[in-house]
Amino acid sequence: QRAEWAKLRNEPTVTPDGHHVELAANIGTPADVAGVLENGGEAVGLYRTEFLYMGRDQLPTEEEQYKAYKAVLEKMEGKPVVVRTLDIGGDKELPYLQLPKEMNPFLGFRAIRLCLEREDIFRTQLRALLRASVHGSLRIMFPMIATLDEFRQAKALLLEEKAKLAAEGTPASDEIQLGIMVEIPSTAVMADQFAKEVDFFSIGTNDLIQYTMAADRMNERVSYLYQPYNPAILRLVKMVIDAAHREGKWAGMCGEMAGDTTAIPLLLGLGLDEFSMSATSILPARSQIVKLSLSEMRQLAARAIELSTAEEVVALVNGHQPRA
Ligand code: PEP
Ligand code: MG
Repeated sequence: QRAEWAKLRNEPTVTPDGHHVELAANIGTPADVAGVLENGGEAVGLYRTEFLYMGRDQLPTEEEQYKAYKAVLEKMEGKPVVVRTLDIGGDKELPYLQLPKEMNPFLGFRAIRLCLEREDIFRTQLRALLRASVHGSLRIMFPMIATLDEFRQAKALLLEEKAKLAAEGTPASDEIQLGIMVEIPSTAVMADQFAKEVDFFSIGTNDLIQYTMAADRMNERVSYLYQPYNPAILRLVKMVIDAAHREGKWAGMCGEMAGDTTAIPLLLGLGLDEFSMSATSILPARSQIVKLSLSEMRQLAARAIELSTAEEVVALVNGHQPRA
């Protein structure tokens, strides 16, 4: 099996009936890029920038961030890199920000909500990203977007910083794609509207599942409700992908589900364009996908979303799939 995976390292991910998808990696630091390339990653689909802010006693400077983003872009040698802006709050705290304790941190002041209020923090990150953008193929993604207004505000701040940099004579790329995480049900439901304004979607199933099922992803007692294969989740995923495609945009996924052997046939069939996962899952996923016919997986996915329970979905997939 390992020999088979090794052979696929430099191959594109194409189904027997000629459909190409992109297999990307989730990373947390520039040092993770080596593993992405070793494992045949075609892109970075999620760079979680929180780690730049964590384990220290003050905010990272624009220069520190610029260096980190530049390093990732350069090491990826022109392959796309999706950088997610700061997603702090929830389970990830920053002691030096001294945020008040909340009753429901996962429903509270986090990610883009914090960034739109603390513009100083957000603008610094955006400037560092814009400056780094000339060193590779940068895509910027905002986390925890719940309304179109949040996206518009965040985009306006990005454009303001870009104009300021231009006035200072600092170049930034004009090719930066701008997208959002779809991890809040309201955004999945409104995907048709968002698709007119964003360049891409990346579905964050880790949070989308917890918010759709109202089941804390960290709470063992309700973990039975944390159901990636629940048809409710599959239907939301389908809405997002279809909405993107109707506007000529692409849809990816960067939650754990994207690298899950049982989910992959369904996601392929639903038309997902980009799968972003831990680097070590890439070659196993590629060896699975190159054996799956897109037209069969389309039929499989169409049947799955008509089923009533997660168990039925799993049984359907297991009955269909050539086992690796
Ligand atoms: C997600 O919610 O699916 C996601 C990728 O983001 P995180 O796991 O960092 O919340
Ligand atoms: Mg998330």
